[in-house]
Amino acid sequence: MDRILRLPTAQLYPHLRCELCEGFLIDAVALPECHHEFCKACIVNYCYLQGPKGPFYCPIEACKAEIHKTRPLSMLKNDTDMQTLIYKLFPSVYKDEMANRRRFYEEHPQALTSFT
Ligand SMILES: [Zn+2]
Ligand SMILES: [Zn+2]
Repeated sequence: MDRILRLPTAQLYPHLRCELCEGFLIDAVALPECHHEFCKACIVNYCYLQGPKGPFYCPIEACKAEIHKTRPLSMLKNDTDMQTLIYKLFPSVYKDEMANRRRFYEEHPQALTSFT
């Protein structure tokens, strides 16, 4: 019925997922150097867990491109095209993810606010 569901999602999936949470990208952001994409909340949290001092690097082992020496979050670029694509391809997954994540950050509000 919905033509868009016939896309080869198995092929697309690696490009739509976040290496940190292993789910679909939510609030996708691209890193400035390597253009790897992560959920905004995931990369924010990843930087937060590394401590207050940089430099900060891409979380992907094979990459490790520098994000920024001290202020990684200033370098993140929202990828709204990617997010729109995911939302269109997987509306229900997206909704579930959003609900899960909202719950998580309601319980751990410091994870989001520390860096902003
Ligand atoms: Zn993620
Ligand atoms: Zn990278």
